[in-house]
Amino acid sequence: MAEAKVNAPPKARYRFFLNPHDEYAYTKCPKCGSKTKIRKFPLVIHIEPNQLLLLNKKCRFCSHCELVIARKSEIETFMVEAVEKRAPDLIGNDYLVVGTMDRKDWHESRSGKIDQATTVERLFVFQDVWKFKVIPGGWYREGEHPLERLERGEGPESVFPPKEKG
Ligand SMILES: [Zn+2]
Repeated sequence: MAEAKVNAPPKARYRFFLNPHDEYAYTKCPKCGSKTKIRKFPLVIHIEPNQLLLLNKKCRFCSHCELVIARKSEIETFMVEAVEKRAPDLIGNDYLVVGTMDRKDWHESRSGKIDQATTVERLFVFQDVWKFKVIPGGWYREGEHPLERLERGEGPESVFPPKEKG
């Protein structure tokens, strides 16, 4: 039996915002107001209880905040397509976009050259998950941003996928 080795702390990079508002494209960063760019990121999605999905996804990116913004509806459409034949029971389960991979590792994982455990070792979890609340129209006190309010989400480490057996 192989000895269980202690996992190194996951590598982290970027911040993440799962955009639930289809009507907001976030051409400007909701945090700093800079223009965002469209960039593809190899995203790693964890579906409860223990399924990893990889998705090379066009996202909005603020290079100043290193904030990746992905549309929730697009991620969920992809997830349904990815699991409906292989594991339809997973549809509707809790999920989390845990982080990104280097493109090379992403290709190797997609093509089956590396297994799920190695994929987990190579992924970069998000440094932080941000949520932005859209404040409904109205008038506001001085200093209160009229469009968005930032809430810090829970860090990604608490939902880091459990190690695969075998
Ligand atoms: Zn920004």
